[in-house]
Amino acid sequence: MNTIHVKLDARSYDVHTGANLLARAGELIAPYAPSNRVFIVTDETVARLHRPALASSLDAAGLKNWTITLPPGESAKSFTGLEMVTRHLLQANISRKDLVIALGGGVIGDLSGLAAGIVKRGVDFVQIPTTLLAQVDSSVGGKTAIDTPEGKNLIGLIHQPKLVLADLDVLGTLDIRQMRAGYAEIVKAALIGDAEFFDWCEQNAAAVLLGRPEALSQAIATAISFKARIVEQDETEQGVRALLNLGHTFAHALEAHSAYDGTLLHGEAVAAGIALAFKLSAQLGHCTQADADRVRRHLEAAGFITDLRKLPGAPYDAQKLTAVMAADKKNDAGKLTLILARGIGRAFMDRDAPTEVVLELLQQETK
Ligand code: NAD
Repeated sequence: MNTIHVKLDARSYDVHTGANLLARAGELIAPYAPSNRVFIVTDETVARLHRPALASSLDAAGLKNWTITLPPGESAKSFTGLEMVTRHLLQANISRKDLVIALGGGVIGDLSGLAAGIVKRGVDFVQIPTTLLAQVDSSVGGKTAIDTPEGKNLIGLIHQPKLVLADLDVLGTLDIRQMRAGYAEIVKAALIGDAEFFDWCEQNAAAVLLGRPEALSQAIATAISFKARIVEQDETEQGVRALLNLGHTFAHALEAHSAYDGTLLHGEAVAAGIALAFKLSAQLGHCTQADADRVRRHLEAAGFITDLRKLPGAPYDAQKLTAVMAADKKNDAGKLTLILARGIGRAFMDRDAPTEVVLELLQQETK
Protein backbone atom coordinates (compact mmCIF):
# COMPACT_ATOMS: atom_id res chain seq x y z
CA MET A 1 0.00 0.00 0.00
CA ASN A 2 1.27 3.44 -0.95
CA THR A 3 0.04 6.46 1.02
CA ILE A 4 -0.15 10.04 -0.16
CA HIS A 5 -0.98 12.55 2.53
CA VAL A 6 -3.04 15.60 1.60
CA LYS A 7 -2.04 18.33 4.03
CA LEU A 8 -4.90 20.75 4.69
CA ASP A 9 -4.71 21.60 8.40
CA ALA A 10 -7.70 20.07 10.20
CA ARG A 11 -9.02 18.74 6.90
CA SER A 12 -5.90 16.69 6.10
CA TYR A 13 -6.32 13.11 4.96
CA ASP A 14 -4.58 10.08 3.52
CA VAL A 15 -5.04 8.60 0.07
CA HIS A 16 -4.08 4.92 0.10
CA THR A 17 -3.41 3.24 -3.23
CA GLY A 18 -2.62 -0.42 -3.79
CA ALA A 19 -4.00 -3.86 -4.48
CA ASN A 20 -6.76 -5.57 -2.52
CA LEU A 21 -7.76 -2.51 -0.49
CA LEU A 22 -11.49 -3.35 -0.52
CA ALA A 23 -10.72 -6.38 1.61
CA ARG A 24 -8.97 -4.12 4.12
CA ALA A 25 -11.53 -1.32 3.93
CA GLY A 26 -13.23 -2.17 7.25
CA GLU A 27 -10.06 -1.97 9.27
CA LEU A 28 -8.88 1.20 7.44
CA ILE A 29 -12.23 2.97 7.73
CA ALA A 30 -13.12 2.01 11.33
CA PRO A 31 -11.14 4.88 12.93
CA TYR A 32 -13.33 7.37 11.02
CA ALA A 33 -16.66 5.85 12.08
CA PRO A 34 -16.96 6.45 15.83
CA SER A 35 -20.57 5.21 15.90
CA ASN A 36 -19.68 2.07 13.90
CA ARG A 37 -22.48 2.99 11.47
CA VAL A 38 -21.70 3.60 7.79
CA PHE A 39 -23.81 4.35 4.72
CA ILE A 40 -22.49 3.14 1.38
CA VAL A 41 -23.65 5.18 -1.63
CA THR A 42 -23.07 3.44 -4.94
CA ASP A 43 -24.56 2.78 -8.37
CA GLU A 44 -26.17 -0.42 -9.65
CA THR A 45 -23.17 -1.53 -11.71
CA VAL A 46 -20.62 -1.01 -8.97
CA ALA A 47 -23.00 -2.47 -6.37
CA ARG A 48 -23.15 -5.70 -8.34
CA LEU A 49 -19.40 -5.92 -8.90
CA HIS A 50 -17.78 -4.56 -5.76
CA ARG A 51 -20.27 -3.94 -2.95
CA PRO A 52 -20.15 -7.53 -1.62
CA ALA A 53 -16.38 -7.34 -0.97
CA LEU A 54 -16.74 -3.97 0.75
CA ALA A 55 -19.72 -5.04 2.84
CA SER A 56 -18.01 -8.18 4.09
CA SER A 57 -14.91 -6.23 5.03
CA LEU A 58 -17.07 -3.69 6.92
CA ASP A 59 -18.99 -6.53 8.62
CA ALA A 60 -15.73 -8.16 9.69
CA ALA A 61 -14.60 -4.89 11.25
CA GLY A 62 -17.90 -4.58 13.17
CA LEU A 63 -19.19 -1.66 11.08
CA LYS A 64 -22.96 -1.83 10.64
CA ASN A 65 -23.64 -0.83 7.03
CA TRP A 66 -26.52 0.16 4.76
CA THR A 67 -26.41 0.72 1.02
CA ILE A 68 -28.10 3.39 -1.10
CA THR A 69 -27.99 2.43 -4.78
CA LEU A 70 -28.53 4.83 -7.68
CA PRO A 71 -28.85 4.13 -11.38
CA PRO A 72 -25.48 4.41 -13.16
CA GLY A 73 -24.67 7.49 -15.22
CA GLU A 74 -24.31 11.25 -15.01
CA SER A 75 -28.06 11.74 -14.50
CA ALA A 76 -27.67 10.65 -10.86
CA LYS A 77 -25.75 13.89 -10.28
CA SER A 78 -29.00 15.85 -10.10
CA PHE A 79 -31.38 17.40 -7.57
CA THR A 80 -33.38 14.17 -7.83
CA GLY A 81 -30.32 12.06 -6.98
CA LEU A 82 -29.35 14.42 -4.18
CA GLU A 83 -32.86 14.36 -2.73
CA MET A 84 -32.92 10.59 -2.85
CA VAL A 85 -29.59 10.19 -1.05
CA THR A 86 -30.13 12.88 1.59
CA ARG A 87 -33.69 11.77 2.42
CA HIS A 88 -32.58 8.18 2.63
CA LEU A 89 -29.86 9.20 5.08
CA LEU A 90 -32.33 11.23 7.15
CA GLN A 91 -34.89 8.40 7.21
CA ALA A 92 -32.14 6.09 8.49
CA ASN A 93 -31.56 8.72 11.17
CA ILE A 94 -27.95 9.41 10.25
CA SER A 95 -25.99 11.14 12.99
CA ARG A 96 -22.87 13.26 12.76
CA LYS A 97 -20.86 10.36 14.17
CA ASP A 98 -21.86 8.15 11.24
CA LEU A 99 -19.93 7.98 8.00
CA VAL A 100 -20.88 8.07 4.33
CA ILE A 101 -18.83 5.92 1.94
CA ALA A 102 -18.84 6.82 -1.75
CA LEU A 103 -18.24 3.58 -3.66
CA GLY A 104 -18.13 4.35 -7.38
CA GLY A 105 -16.88 6.63 -10.10
CA GLY A 106 -16.80 10.40 -10.17
CA VAL A 107 -20.58 10.63 -10.37
CA ILE A 108 -21.09 8.78 -7.10
CA GLY A 109 -18.14 10.58 -5.47
CA ASP A 110 -19.40 14.04 -6.40
CA LEU A 111 -23.00 13.29 -5.41
CA SER A 112 -22.25 11.51 -2.12
CA GLY A 113 -19.69 14.12 -1.11
CA LEU A 114 -22.28 16.85 -1.58
CA ALA A 115 -24.97 14.84 0.25
CA ALA A 116 -22.56 14.20 3.14
CA GLY A 117 -21.56 17.86 3.15
CA ILE A 118 -25.09 19.16 3.63
CA VAL A 119 -27.00 16.48 5.53
CA LYS A 120 -27.26 17.51 9.21
CA ARG A 121 -24.93 20.39 8.16
CA GLY A 122 -22.13 17.98 7.36
CA VAL A 123 -21.14 14.40 8.13
CA ASP A 124 -17.80 12.80 7.34
CA PHE A 125 -17.27 10.76 4.23
CA VAL A 126 -14.75 8.38 2.69
CA GLN A 127 -14.11 7.97 -1.02
CA ILE A 128 -13.61 4.53 -2.55
CA PRO A 129 -13.17 5.50 -6.20
CA THR A 130 -13.78 2.65 -8.64
CA THR A 131 -12.92 4.27 -12.00
CA LEU A 132 -9.44 5.31 -13.03
CA LEU A 133 -10.74 8.86 -13.49
CA ALA A 134 -12.13 8.96 -9.98
CA GLN A 135 -8.92 7.48 -8.51
CA VAL A 136 -6.56 9.97 -10.12
CA ASP A 137 -8.77 13.01 -10.09
CA SER A 138 -12.26 13.38 -8.67
CA SER A 139 -11.82 11.56 -5.34
CA VAL A 140 -9.01 13.88 -4.24
CA GLY A 141 -9.48 17.58 -3.56
CA GLY A 142 -12.95 17.77 -2.03
CA LYS A 143 -14.90 19.21 -4.96
CA THR A 144 -18.46 17.90 -4.87
CA ALA A 145 -21.35 18.81 -7.13
CA ILE A 146 -24.52 18.05 -8.99
CA ASP A 147 -25.56 19.26 -12.44
CA THR A 148 -28.61 21.37 -13.26
CA PRO A 149 -30.24 22.24 -16.60
CA GLU A 150 -28.17 25.47 -16.45
CA GLY A 151 -24.91 23.55 -16.54
CA LYS A 152 -22.60 20.97 -15.06
CA ASN A 153 -21.26 21.12 -11.50
CA LEU A 154 -22.95 24.44 -10.76
CA ILE A 155 -24.38 23.38 -7.38
CA GLY A 156 -21.77 22.07 -4.99
CA LEU A 157 -19.35 22.67 -2.19
CA ILE A 158 -15.86 21.78 -1.10
CA HIS A 159 -16.11 18.95 1.41
CA GLN A 160 -12.88 17.03 1.86
CA PRO A 161 -13.09 13.28 2.48
CA LYS A 162 -11.58 11.78 5.65
CA LEU A 163 -9.85 9.05 3.66
CA VAL A 164 -9.52 7.84 0.07
CA LEU A 165 -8.98 4.17 -0.80
CA ALA A 166 -7.91 3.70 -4.42
CA ASP A 167 -7.89 -0.07 -4.95
CA LEU A 168 -6.14 -1.08 -8.19
CA ASP A 169 -8.03 -4.38 -8.34
CA VAL A 170 -11.44 -2.76 -8.80
CA LEU A 171 -10.20 -1.31 -12.08
CA GLY A 172 -10.07 -4.85 -13.48
CA THR A 173 -13.80 -4.70 -14.28
CA LEU A 174 -13.58 -1.37 -16.09
CA ASP A 175 -13.75 -1.37 -19.89
CA ILE A 176 -10.95 0.05 -22.03
CA ARG A 177 -12.95 3.14 -22.95
CA GLN A 178 -13.36 4.08 -19.27
CA MET A 179 -9.68 3.27 -18.59
CA ARG A 180 -8.66 5.59 -21.41
CA ALA A 181 -10.97 8.33 -20.12
CA GLY A 182 -9.15 8.14 -16.78
CA TYR A 183 -5.79 8.18 -18.51
CA ALA A 184 -6.67 11.61 -19.96
CA GLU A 185 -6.53 13.07 -16.45
CA ILE A 186 -3.18 11.35 -15.81
CA VAL A 187 -1.57 12.78 -18.92
CA LYS A 188 -3.18 16.13 -18.08
CA ALA A 189 -1.20 16.21 -14.81
CA ALA A 190 2.03 15.63 -16.76
CA LEU A 191 1.23 18.34 -19.29
CA ILE A 192 0.40 20.90 -16.61
CA GLY A 193 3.53 20.59 -14.56
CA ASP A 194 5.75 17.57 -15.00
CA ALA A 195 7.56 17.23 -18.34
CA GLU A 196 9.51 14.21 -17.10
CA PHE A 197 6.27 12.42 -16.27
CA PHE A 198 5.09 13.15 -19.81
CA ASP A 199 8.22 11.35 -21.13
CA TRP A 200 7.23 8.45 -18.86
CA CYS A 201 3.65 8.54 -20.20
CA GLU A 202 4.95 8.31 -23.76
CA GLN A 203 6.81 5.13 -22.83
CA ASN A 204 4.15 3.57 -20.60
CA ALA A 205 0.67 4.58 -21.77
CA ALA A 206 -0.03 1.18 -23.31
CA ALA A 207 0.92 -0.65 -20.10
CA VAL A 208 -1.28 1.69 -18.04
CA LEU A 209 -4.25 1.18 -20.35
CA LEU A 210 -3.78 -2.59 -20.26
CA GLY A 211 -3.86 -2.43 -16.47
CA ARG A 212 -0.30 -3.71 -15.92
CA PRO A 213 -0.01 -3.34 -12.14
CA GLU A 214 3.42 -1.71 -11.98
CA ALA A 215 2.74 0.95 -14.62
CA LEU A 216 -0.80 1.52 -13.37
CA SER A 217 0.21 2.01 -9.76
CA GLN A 218 3.02 4.38 -10.71
CA ALA A 219 0.72 6.45 -12.94
CA ILE A 220 -1.98 6.62 -10.27
CA ALA A 221 0.40 7.54 -7.47
CA THR A 222 2.13 10.23 -9.56
CA ALA A 223 -1.15 11.79 -10.69
CA ILE A 224 -2.63 11.77 -7.18
CA SER A 225 0.53 13.29 -5.66
CA PHE A 226 0.52 15.97 -8.33
CA LYS A 227 -3.10 16.86 -7.60
CA ALA A 228 -2.57 16.71 -3.83
CA ARG A 229 0.32 19.21 -3.99
CA ILE A 230 -1.85 21.63 -6.01
CA VAL A 231 -4.87 21.27 -3.72
CA GLU A 232 -2.64 21.89 -0.69
CA GLN A 233 -1.53 25.20 -2.18
CA ASP A 234 -4.98 26.32 -3.26
CA GLU A 235 -7.89 24.35 -1.80
CA THR A 236 -10.62 26.74 -2.96
CA GLU A 237 -9.26 27.47 -6.47
CA GLN A 238 -8.21 31.07 -6.07
CA GLY A 239 -5.12 30.52 -8.23
CA VAL A 240 -2.94 27.53 -9.09
CA ARG A 241 -5.74 24.94 -8.76
CA ALA A 242 -7.34 26.39 -11.89
CA LEU A 243 -4.47 24.84 -13.88
CA LEU A 244 -6.14 21.47 -13.32
CA ASN A 245 -8.70 22.69 -15.84
CA LEU A 246 -6.25 22.27 -18.75
CA GLY A 247 -8.39 21.19 -21.71
CA HIS A 248 -11.57 21.42 -19.64
CA THR A 249 -13.15 24.59 -21.04
CA PHE A 250 -13.04 23.07 -24.52
CA ALA A 251 -14.11 19.72 -23.02
CA HIS A 252 -17.16 21.11 -21.26
CA ALA A 253 -18.33 22.73 -24.50
CA LEU A 254 -17.87 19.44 -26.37
CA GLU A 255 -19.72 17.53 -23.64
CA ALA A 256 -22.57 20.05 -23.50
CA HIS A 257 -23.19 19.36 -27.22
CA SER A 258 -24.41 15.84 -26.39
CA ALA A 259 -26.02 16.93 -23.12
CA TYR A 260 -23.74 14.67 -21.03
CA ASP A 261 -25.60 11.59 -22.22
CA GLY A 262 -22.49 9.41 -22.40
CA THR A 263 -21.98 9.80 -26.17
CA LEU A 264 -18.66 11.42 -25.33
CA LEU A 265 -17.01 10.51 -22.02
CA HIS A 266 -15.57 13.31 -19.90
CA GLY A 267 -12.01 12.02 -20.32
CA GLU A 268 -12.43 11.72 -24.09
CA ALA A 269 -13.59 15.33 -24.20
CA VAL A 270 -10.66 16.35 -21.98
CA ALA A 271 -8.15 14.69 -24.31
CA ALA A 272 -9.60 16.50 -27.33
CA GLY A 273 -9.65 19.70 -25.26
CA ILE A 274 -5.99 19.31 -24.32
CA ALA A 275 -5.03 18.93 -27.98
CA LEU A 276 -7.00 22.11 -28.76
CA ALA A 277 -5.43 24.02 -25.85
CA PHE A 278 -1.95 23.14 -27.12
CA LYS A 279 -2.86 24.00 -30.70
CA LEU A 280 -4.21 27.37 -29.57
CA SER A 281 -1.10 27.93 -27.42
CA ALA A 282 1.07 27.36 -30.50
CA GLN A 283 -1.10 29.65 -32.64
CA LEU A 284 -0.86 32.41 -30.04
CA GLY A 285 2.92 31.96 -29.87
CA HIS A 286 2.98 30.65 -26.28
CA CYS A 287 4.50 27.26 -27.15
CA THR A 288 6.16 25.66 -30.15
CA GLN A 289 4.23 23.85 -32.85
CA ALA A 290 6.52 20.88 -32.15
CA ASP A 291 5.19 20.63 -28.57
CA ALA A 292 1.59 20.87 -29.77
CA ASP A 293 2.25 18.14 -32.36
CA ARG A 294 3.97 15.93 -29.79
CA VAL A 295 0.97 16.19 -27.43
CA ARG A 296 -1.49 15.35 -30.20
CA ARG A 297 0.65 12.41 -31.35
CA HIS A 298 0.73 10.97 -27.84
CA LEU A 299 -3.01 11.34 -27.31
CA GLU A 300 -3.69 9.61 -30.61
CA ALA A 301 -1.19 6.85 -29.83
CA ALA A 302 -3.12 6.27 -26.60
CA GLY A 303 -6.27 5.81 -28.69
CA PHE A 304 -7.95 9.18 -28.24
CA ILE A 305 -9.70 10.92 -31.11
CA THR A 306 -8.45 14.50 -31.34
CA ASP A 307 -10.06 15.29 -34.70
CA LEU A 308 -13.36 16.98 -33.82
CA ARG A 309 -14.88 15.83 -37.11
CA LYS A 310 -14.51 12.21 -35.97
CA LEU A 311 -15.17 12.63 -32.25
CA PRO A 312 -18.29 10.86 -30.91
CA GLY A 313 -21.15 13.37 -31.14
CA ALA A 314 -19.85 14.98 -34.38
CA PRO A 315 -20.67 17.17 -36.20
CA TYR A 316 -19.89 19.99 -33.76
CA ASP A 317 -20.86 23.61 -34.39
CA ALA A 318 -17.95 26.05 -33.80
CA GLN A 319 -20.27 28.96 -32.97
CA LYS A 320 -22.16 26.95 -30.37
CA LEU A 321 -18.95 25.59 -28.83
CA THR A 322 -17.54 29.11 -28.53
CA ALA A 323 -20.79 30.37 -26.98
CA VAL A 324 -20.64 27.64 -24.29
CA MET A 325 -16.99 28.49 -23.62
CA ALA A 326 -17.87 32.17 -23.28
CA ALA A 327 -20.37 31.27 -20.53
CA ASP A 328 -17.76 29.35 -18.47
CA LYS A 329 -17.67 30.22 -14.78
CA LYS A 330 -13.93 31.04 -14.89
CA ASN A 331 -14.39 33.97 -17.30
CA ASP A 332 -14.03 37.53 -16.09
CA ALA A 333 -15.60 40.57 -17.74
CA GLY A 334 -16.42 38.99 -21.07
CA LYS A 335 -12.93 37.65 -21.81
CA LEU A 336 -12.14 33.98 -22.20
CA THR A 337 -10.10 32.50 -19.39
CA LEU A 338 -8.30 29.44 -20.64
CA ILE A 339 -5.53 27.23 -19.36
CA LEU A 340 -2.87 27.31 -22.05
CA ALA A 341 0.76 26.15 -22.11
CA ARG A 342 4.20 27.61 -22.66
CA GLY A 343 5.42 24.08 -23.37
CA ILE A 344 5.04 20.54 -22.07
CA GLY A 345 4.68 20.68 -18.28
CA ARG A 346 4.29 24.48 -18.33
CA ALA A 347 0.58 25.31 -18.16
CA PHE A 348 -0.56 28.81 -17.23
CA MET A 349 -3.80 30.73 -16.94
CA ASP A 350 -4.49 33.09 -19.83
CA ARG A 351 -7.20 35.60 -18.93
CA ASP A 352 -7.57 37.22 -22.32
CA ALA A 353 -7.61 34.64 -25.06
CA PRO A 354 -9.31 36.42 -27.98
CA THR A 355 -12.74 34.90 -28.63
CA GLU A 356 -12.34 35.39 -32.41
CA VAL A 357 -9.14 33.32 -32.47
CA VAL A 358 -10.83 30.53 -30.49
CA LEU A 359 -13.80 30.63 -32.85
CA GLU A 360 -11.50 30.52 -35.88
CA LEU A 361 -9.62 27.55 -34.46
CA LEU A 362 -12.86 25.69 -33.79
CA GLN A 363 -14.12 26.53 -37.28
CA GLN A 364 -10.95 25.04 -38.80
CA GLU A 365 -11.26 21.97 -36.58
CA THR A 366 -14.91 21.27 -37.25
CA LYS A 367 -15.31 21.98 -40.97
P1 NAD B 1 -19.00 7.48 -13.64
O1 NAD B 1 -19.00 7.70 -12.20
O2 NAD B 1 -20.28 7.72 -14.38
O3 NAD B 1 -18.50 6.01 -13.95
C1 NAD B 1 -18.45 5.58 -15.29
C2 NAD B 1 -19.20 4.26 -15.49
O4 NAD B 1 -18.38 3.21 -15.00
C3 NAD B 1 -20.52 4.16 -14.74
O5 NAD B 1 -21.44 3.54 -15.59
C4 NAD B 1 -20.20 3.24 -13.57
O6 NAD B 1 -21.31 2.47 -13.18
C5 NAD B 1 -19.13 2.37 -14.13
N1 NAD B 1 -18.15 1.87 -13.17
C6 NAD B 1 -17.62 2.51 -12.12
N2 NAD B 1 -16.68 1.75 -11.55
C7 NAD B 1 -16.64 0.60 -12.24
C8 NAD B 1 -15.86 -0.57 -12.13
N3 NAD B 1 -14.88 -0.70 -11.24
N4 NAD B 1 -16.09 -1.57 -13.01
C9 NAD B 1 -17.04 -1.45 -13.99
N5 NAD B 1 -17.80 -0.36 -14.14
C10 NAD B 1 -17.59 0.66 -13.27
O7 NAD B 1 -17.91 8.39 -14.38
P2 NAD B 1 -16.43 8.84 -14.01
O8 NAD B 1 -15.74 8.99 -15.30
O9 NAD B 1 -15.81 8.03 -12.95
O10 NAD B 1 -16.67 10.29 -13.38
C11 NAD B 1 -17.20 11.34 -14.15
C12 NAD B 1 -17.74 12.39 -13.19
O11 NAD B 1 -16.68 12.85 -12.37
C13 NAD B 1 -18.32 13.58 -13.91
O12 NAD B 1 -19.57 13.89 -13.34
C14 NAD B 1 -17.32 14.70 -13.60
O13 NAD B 1 -17.94 15.96 -13.53
C15 NAD B 1 -16.80 14.26 -12.26
N6 NAD B 1 -15.47 14.80 -11.95
C16 NAD B 1 -15.31 15.40 -10.74
C17 NAD B 1 -14.09 15.91 -10.37
C18 NAD B 1 -13.89 16.51 -9.02
O14 NAD B 1 -12.84 17.09 -8.75
N7 NAD B 1 -14.84 16.39 -8.13
C19 NAD B 1 -12.99 15.79 -11.24
C20 NAD B 1 -13.18 15.15 -12.47
C21 NAD B 1 -14.43 14.66 -12.81
